Amino acid sequence: METVVDTEVLVVGAGNAAMAAAVAARKQGAEVVVLEKASKSERGGNSALTVHMRFPYRGMEDLTPLLSDVGEDETRSLAARVSDYTESDYYDDIMAVTDGRSDPTLANILVSEAYRTVLWMRSYGHAWIPSHESPTSANVVSFDGGGFAMQERWFRAAEGLGITVHYETRAIELLRDRAGGVTGVQARTGDRDVRYKSRAVILACGSFESSPEMRARYLGAGWDKVKLRGVPFNTGDGLNMALELGAQSYGSWSTCHASPQDSNRPEFDVPGPGVSGVYWSRYSYPFGIMVNVDGHRFVDEGETWRGLTYAKTGRAILSQPGGLAFQVFDSEQRRRGLIRGYEDATGYKSNSLEALARDLELRDVGAFLGTVREFNDAIQEGEFHPFRLDGKSASGITPPKSNWALPITSPPFEAYPTICGMTFTYGGLKITPSGEVLHESDQIIPGLYAAGEMVGGLWHDNYPSGGGMMAGAVFGRIAGTEAAQRVLSDG
Ligand SMILES: Cc1cc2nc3c(=O)[nH]c(=O)nc-3n(C[C@H](O)[C@H](O)[C@H](O)COP(=O)(O)OP(=O)(O)OC[C@H]3O[C@@H](n4cnc5c(N)ncnc54)[C@H](O)[C@@H]3O)c2cc1C
Repeated sequence: METVVDTEVLVVGAGNAAMAAAVAARKQGAEVVVLEKASKSERGGNSALTVHMRFPYRGMEDLTPLLSDVGEDETRSLAARVSDYTESDYYDDIMAVTDGRSDPTLANILVSEAYRTVLWMRSYGHAWIPSHESPTSANVVSFDGGGFAMQERWFRAAEGLGITVHYETRAIELLRDRAGGVTGVQARTGDRDVRYKSRAVILACGSFESSPEMRARYLGAGWDKVKLRGVPFNTGDGLNMALELGAQSYGSWSTCHASPQDSNRPEFDVPGPGVSGVYWSRYSYPFGIMVNVDGHRFVDEGETWRGLTYAKTGRAILSQPGGLAFQVFDSEQRRRGLIRGYEDATGYKSNSLEALARDLELRDVGAFLGTVREFNDAIQEGEFHPFRLDGKSASGITPPKSNWALPITSPPFEAYPTICGMTFTYGGLKITPSGEVLHESDQIIPGLYAAGEMVGGLWHDNYPSGGGMMAGAVFGRIAGTEAAQRVLSDG
């Protein structure tokens, strides 16, 4: 027999966007139920695997209120590295990485609401610590305890507000009244059907990155085979449910966020205490060179801040023969502490580049040696600085290297095989500034809201690190507030 659950605002998904929406709606006074496909022990979505969110700040004045009790030394060292990151810097970064294609309305809301939203999150116990990563641009603080602790804080806040989360419950269909308004969700838990009746539904159940079928359909051949960096639960359910209702698809459905990962990374990750979303990431490439199996370089490794290039670098790796790339460093990069987070990396070390190339089973050892020689010869005068766009370039070669060009000359040499890892997809639904989902006819679908990865239009081809979590919190908070206000004002 079918169970029926009644509530005012129903939130689908329990990642950062969903929890921001749930908390915001409850704070307005609405009764809120959250549905989550994963079990309680695997809850948190991709959000639980993250590190930081990108927001604008005016130096320490804006950062200090967000910090955990990190001590004077840490605060002083952060202050020494921090300058301002304004709303217009943020907006410009979004437009630069998306080649001007980000929806200006959404981008404006994101940058103008971001700092207000992190302060609001702070009021629910969220906390940040100084970040020591480089070169990421802007993300000078990260979640205290990582994304896992951040999500646990959301769950604690939700519990404190009386929000119920139904785990192992998969939303499968949107319910509608005769006028086309959304009145709830049909869901499945174990072998039971549950009908959730509600006055508003907020879809925040991720994109379609975990569905090989949808990846192949929208991103193209080969994408069905890539390994996921995140959870296996985001199979496009929310998008499909909304599209079936005639919701307007929006943004870049043929591009996605994909980054360099250890060649031996598992097929996917699930959140849990101590699980780091960046454990398998290989993000020191701006300081070395990357070659393919034929021994050729194929991207400008130092084009700009790593946080503005890594999300498109996975795609570049996937398009190389065998979908493989090798990050190459020498002892100078090691000595300067530039090869970070590679303690357990799949890697090779050798005193000669020739032997290294053989260990890597490169198809053309001579071409590789030529690539390194050509790169070393192309390095220009200038001062190397890991925390600046130092302009120390290798030029006159194709591709050039625009920053952080250090020669690969001093043994031992190190190399790390990397593959493309799928993070999330960019295509989504078109929403209004209030988070309501638009129908193909450009009319609002009454009672239907969307937030997080499901929102289309912000990201195209590339993405600025930290943008996903910030967009999730900003648009989740808006959707939750607006949905609750509408429900409550309708009486
Ligand atoms: C390893 C990794 C590291 C990352 N690091 C960062 C970072 O540092 N900063 C940053 O900004 N971004 C980062 N990202 C991207 C970031 O995770 C996403 O942008 C963000 O988490 C999206 O939030 P969300 O709430 O939309 O989705 P999610 O957090 O993925 O939540 C979606 C939830 O919906 C649930 N769900 C799916 N289908 C259904 C259904 N049918 N019914 C019910 N529930 C369902 C899922 O189980 C999941 O819990 C990272 C991603 C990965 C994978």
